[in-house]
Amino acid sequence: MFDYHVHTNHSNDCTFEMESYILPAIAKGLEGICFTDHVDIDYPGTSIQFDIDYSKYIGEVKRLKDKYNDKLEILTGIEFGMQPHILEEDNSFFQNKSFDYILGSIHAANKKELYGGDFTESKSGHLGTLDYFNDMIFCVKNYNSYNNLGHIDAIARYVSKGSFSASQYMEYIEEVLKIIINKGKGIELNTSGKRYSLQHFHPEPSIIKLYKELGGEIITLGSDSHNPNTLGYGFEEAVYILQSCGFKYNTIFRKGKPEFIKL
Ligand SMILES: [Zn+2]
Ligand SMILES: [Zn+2]
Repeated sequence: MFDYHVHTNHSNDCTFEMESYILPAIAKGLEGICFTDHVDIDYPGTSIQFDIDYSKYIGEVKRLKDKYNDKLEILTGIEFGMQPHILEEDNSFFQNKSFDYILGSIHAANKKELYGGDFTESKSGHLGTLDYFNDMIFCVKNYNSYNNLGHIDAIARYVSKGSFSASQYMEYIEEVLKIIINKGKGIELNTSGKRYSLQHFHPEPSIIKLYKELGGEIITLGSDSHNPNTLGYGFEEAVYILQSCGFKYNTIFRKGKPEFIKL
């Protein structure tokens, strides 16, 4: 199996070196990992900058590929923060760069940070959640570079604990999924949810089921690790969930092209 969502110290919210993931990945029996460090242009609310030094990033992946050649497949990805007002950066950032996999994620709503809860500033959790899904619809429709959309219902972590219910927003989620499918793009099953004291992975099973019913086939598995200990976290259960939603394959990307792997 492949873990397609892994952060390293090339992300400002992670301190572990790329190389520290390699032996744990091999020990866990993973066939490959795809590094997806953060690029969030104009990330709101804090002075933290989420950006990578592209040549350093690529250089480090290449060094590890050479060193661990036949033991683990190592892929170069990125988690690109999408926001409506930086759409043009989508084109300029990716010029003269190439990645195996681009995970597009929503980490802000209406130019306000999710992580610190700022998106509900002076409004209810419900209105903040609508901002989140409206931004998501705009971004999946107008961005083109991404392969898959990250953690669709991650908002569940940030509205006041336990109050988010996906069923309340299913028409928005359905619109997102339809756009993604029409554009030939996919989603991820991100197993981090249960590490954030939720009862489910991202997205929760009802959304995965809907995605499948609408014709979605492209889905990657990712732990969203910021620590080598959580590589492949919950993958056995994730496979079970995918199978019970009707999936026979999961997806990996090499040089931006989806490849399907039997579950
Ligand atoms: Zn993310
Ligand atoms: Zn992530």
